[in-house]
Amino acid sequence: MEKKKILVLGGGFGGVFAAKELARIDRNQLDIELINNNNYFVFQPLLPEVAAASIHSSDAVVPLRLLLRRIQVRQADVMGIDFDKKIVTVVQGFRRIPIDLPYDDLIIALGMSVDLKRFPGLPEHALTMKNLSDAHHLRTHVISCLEMADVATDAELRQQLLTFVVVGAGFSGVETVAEVNELIHRALKYYRNLKHEEIRVYLIEYAGRILPTFPADLAEYATRRLQFNGIEVKTGVGTKSATSTAVELTDGSLIPTRTIVATIGNGPNPLVEALGLEMHWGRIKTDRFMRVPGHDGAWAVGDAAEIPLVEQPAEDPAHYAPQTAQFAVREGRQLANNLIAKTKGDELKPFAYESKGSLASLGMSKAVAEVYGVKLSGTLAWLLWRGFYLSFLPGFASKVRVLVNWLLNLIVPPNIVLVQSALPGTRYIHYRKGDKVLEPGMLIDGFYTVVKGSLKLTIDNPATGEHFEKVFGPGDHFGERVLLKSALRTGLVVALEDSVVLWISQKDFTRLARAFPFLDSYFKDYIEKTFGGTDKAFAPGSAERSHELEPTH
Ligand SMILES: Cc1cc2nc3c(=O)[nH]c(=O)nc-3n(C[C@H](O)[C@H](O)[C@H](O)COP(=O)(O)OP(=O)(O)OC[C@H]3O[C@@H](n4cnc5c(N)ncnc54)[C@H](O)[C@@H]3O)c2cc1C
Repeated sequence: MEKKKILVLGGGFGGVFAAKELARIDRNQLDIELINNNNYFVFQPLLPEVAAASIHSSDAVVPLRLLLRRIQVRQADVMGIDFDKKIVTVVQGFRRIPIDLPYDDLIIALGMSVDLKRFPGLPEHALTMKNLSDAHHLRTHVISCLEMADVATDAELRQQLLTFVVVGAGFSGVETVAEVNELIHRALKYYRNLKHEEIRVYLIEYAGRILPTFPADLAEYATRRLQFNGIEVKTGVGTKSATSTAVELTDGSLIPTRTIVATIGNGPNPLVEALGLEMHWGRIKTDRFMRVPGHDGAWAVGDAAEIPLVEQPAEDPAHYAPQTAQFAVREGRQLANNLIAKTKGDELKPFAYESKGSLASLGMSKAVAEVYGVKLSGTLAWLLWRGFYLSFLPGFASKVRVLVNWLLNLIVPPNIVLVQSALPGTRYIHYRKGDKVLEPGMLIDGFYTVVKGSLKLTIDNPATGEHFEKVFGPGDHFGERVLLKSALRTGLVVALEDSVVLWISQKDFTRLARAFPFLDSYFKDYIEKTFGGTDKAFAPGSAERSHELEPTH
């Protein structure tokens, strides 16, 4: 008899535990395949520890092929689903040609995405904490801020570099701010020019208190503990907008900073959103058995699914399964059992589970925990937190590596090695009115096109007393002259109003200009017409250098 084909989309908690349970119950009758865009499973609760360099980035992940030895694993991007034909389209491998995979039953476990569009400037300037590369990036960013602050002589820039803002105080925000704060303070003794008093770390929460899923007294303890560790906790205030130099809050205050970490803004996975399914709060509406109504053989689980916990759910989040790993694991297992029951013609069971509690690390060997109604705080809670996550972490090798890292971390200095990762070659940068975009003496870093707002260029030649001014509006560009000549900046560019520019790295811009004769001659003509030849650009090194050579964004 031909085996039934089960496709599991997504290798997170929901997908992995559904696939494992299916294989455990009935692997001889089923042909199970799990599809994920990475070849590893991310243990998200440990991401703040990766950001804080307490554990290595590869220790918070487990290869899916190791975790699911008896299941076919395919590394591919899911591009679409045809529910009528029962086909999933994926793009995979070297050639990246779309291929169709038929299924009998389909489990959608693609999680949620981060959506910060509501806050101008936040998508461009905030770091996120969703996957492994986010955590790795945050760690690199924090260490590079310390490195740059250590050599900065401009007081304003130095303060921005030493100010770190985490937005959102659910457990990922609290754990991230706590761990990053610990990393910074432990690292400071290796930076001779930096002092503890100069560091400012903020936790911003729109709700009236932090850790909304915890009892109020534990949340209060957590707030006091974070404050004791030097973190400024601001509740009842949200984020309004962000630029490359500051975050603006809903009370109108401005925090000058070069580091914004957003743990808010859970939005639907774009692929899931495009499927045309009935959605509720950005998640796929399912019935209590986790079936997707109206689509035979389709199921949904984990963060991507809105699973009712009661017969007649109202518009109340408490009536639906929350977006936690704890629930995703149980949902995955229950879904597997229901799927098997369906194939056997047995009765399906509605999903029912009560949280066994919550744990949140507060850094500096302290945590809060509520387990089976018992409340704990301090070091005991922290030991419980570590013990629990160690036991929960799939894979023996991962457990051993994390344990060794944790033990080592108690006695060895933090790892402040800065492995530079290339910045994206093209990105949008938001500037607030008055922000300096480029300063004389800076090393060239890119080409700028104005998307919104206006900016003014001023060039003063100290040798000739010559003065040059130009205002740039949408569609105008600057930076090309110095880039093509490979020199230091000679002009000052300041935002005349809140503005957005598209920045292209020097490397990409010069490649583009050199590869396209049209662009090359366009820029030569432009320079000739605008600046009257290149003579207004001083020879490399002749511009009086300012003390700062750091990029301004
Ligand atoms: C920093 C952080 C800390 C957390 N801490 C806790 C905690 O302490 N306790 C707790 O219970 N919960 C915690 N959570 C929440 C928990 O991790 C999530 O609820 C859980 O991961 C949801 O599992 P999932 O399988 O639904 O989705 P995910 O784990 O997000 O898995 C979805 C998978 O689908 C893949 N995918 C998405 N789109 C595509 C595509 N088009 N093609 C192919 N693959 C795709 C993704 O790469 C991913 O592997 C935390 C979350 C974060 C971010």
